[in-house]
Amino acid sequence: MNDRHRELVDAACAQRLRSYSPYSHFRVGAALLGKSGVVYLGTNVENASFGLSICAERAAVCRAVADGEQAFEAIAICADGSEPTPPCGACRQVLLEFGPDLVVLMAGNGGAAGPVQVSTAGDLVPLAFTNFKANLADEHGDDPNGKQGGGR
Ligand SMILES: [Zn+2]
Repeated sequence: MNDRHRELVDAACAQRLRSYSPYSHFRVGAALLGKSGVVYLGTNVENASFGLSICAERAAVCRAVADGEQAFEAIAICADGSEPTPPCGACRQVLLEFGPDLVVLMAGNGGAAGPVQVSTAGDLVPLAFTNFKANLADEHGDDPNGKQGGGR
């Protein structure tokens, strides 16, 4: 973990305090470092209809994309509790969309001074689903770049 990564972890921990989590009381913050050098922050936002809740990681990704950035170096995730919390499956898939080499830093509420686990989006999603067009081409002989779908 380099100095930039330590700063990112601490930014995620600070962002965690802005969590809207009246149901779980489990606060999570995320800090996503774009290749431009800009950091995009996110926090979990819960809802009375639980399924509508969004995680901090996806909130940060949506914020970055809305601001015009789509290439990322690293994301730090900081949650309540002293141990690092890994991203949920949905967030892993969303992070992988932006490349398997995206560094994922997972921290507990101690931030960079506490235990931090380091991985990549690719390593967090073994046997990832990334390209439906290739699957369709294999099965139906479709042109993966054409307009014809698989007809399923
Ligand atoms: Zn998640």
